[in-house]
Amino acid sequence: MNQKKGIAILGSTGSIGTQALEVIEAYPDYFDLQVITAGKNADLLIEQALKYKPNTVVITEESLYDKVKSALIDEDVHVYAGSESLCQVVESNEVHTVLTALVGYAGLKPTLRAIEAKKTIALANKETLVVAGELVTRLAKENGVNIYPVDSEHSAIFQCLVGEFQNKIEKIYLTASGGPFRGWTLEQLKDVKKEQALKHPNWTMGAKITIDSASLMNKGLEVIEAKWLFNLTPDEIDVIVHPQSIVHSLVQFEDGSMKAQMGLPDMKLPIQFALTFPARFKTDFPRFNFMDYPQLTFEKPDRSVFKNLDLAYRAMEMGGTAACALNAANEIAVEAFLNDQIGFLDIANINEATMLHIPVIQQPIYEDFVKSDADARAFATSLVLKN
Ligand code: NDP
Repeated sequence: MNQKKGIAILGSTGSIGTQALEVIEAYPDYFDLQVITAGKNADLLIEQALKYKPNTVVITEESLYDKVKSALIDEDVHVYAGSESLCQVVESNEVHTVLTALVGYAGLKPTLRAIEAKKTIALANKETLVVAGELVTRLAKENGVNIYPVDSEHSAIFQCLVGEFQNKIEKIYLTASGGPFRGWTLEQLKDVKKEQALKHPNWTMGAKITIDSASLMNKGLEVIEAKWLFNLTPDEIDVIVHPQSIVHSLVQFEDGSMKAQMGLPDMKLPIQFALTFPARFKTDFPRFNFMDYPQLTFEKPDRSVFKNLDLAYRAMEMGGTAACALNAANEIAVEAFLNDQIGFLDIANINEATMLHIPVIQQPIYEDFVKSDADARAFATSLVLKN
């Protein structure tokens, strides 16, 4: 392995992936970009390969292989296609850290393969921990692999814990912006359109997580993610709405002391910290100015209107594959909402009905997650079609 840190970015064409490339570009003496991958966006993948000169690119959609290969024929770059290639490229000796920035369940398998290959994980793909948190964290422990969070709330908790690893956490507070529909009633939410749901007040992100933020499913997924990352019980995790998105999350210790991590909303910071930990590299990101934010406010989430948050807590109580089924239902429901097949409130209804319908398998192995995911997708799809 060379002296620089070899990085693989799974999902380089997405919101996290493109920002990660900017971070890596800023420190050419520290990072060595080894792998970038795309789902279907061949044009952007080609553009990125020409600009950032990785060693390897993967286009997951196999029908686009010829397009990518011929565009990069004169470049010194390996080109592969298909989801199995995604799993193989992370195992390269030149890769030190794998940034998992795929969206959804698709991130699970390559993350498991990267852990088995003893790569450090910078985890943006929260669905991986939601679906199979017990398996992922157990494998990471067995392989001596560190998982550094990229999600801003979990990065905040992680940053608060540096120097505190021996001290017990009493509680963590995950902050939530409340999304574009904060304060809305069920009546108002009945007819919202995807264009409204896609307008997040503070963050620019991929479509799926933006809808999840509007429905509070994102916060529910983050609660489950936090449980696994920080080894907490559900009652040790609380959610507080903080519309300004300046306090990124808080830890409360057993002596009652609380630590918060703050800053302007900018995903490049948590991405960078996950890639450079334990060091902090100097940046020219805009700095926070107190006078621009004379008031930081906090309020309770409205759990009767946004019931996805409670569904996540219920999934943790049910254990086993329950969160896997919930995640699968949500992926189907969000896609259906984005395709104008269902209304906004149907998302949580489909999630609830599916989670309660699919039998929970306790102490699941990998194949149980695959089955639960497939069964939940089929059931949720049948509910979409009935709509
Ligand atoms: P995007 O939708 O912007 O990007 C997703 C990436 O994954 C793209 O590169 C896409 O490729 C690729 N991809 C999608 N489906 C597949 C598939 N089936 N197989 C292979 N590749 C696939 O998502 P985000 O960057 O917004 O989010 C990525 C992850 O990070 C999510 O889990 C999200 O919850 C998490 N996250 C995101 C934040 C953000 O600010 N965006 C903040 C915190 C967490 P292509 O576009 O080429 O098809």
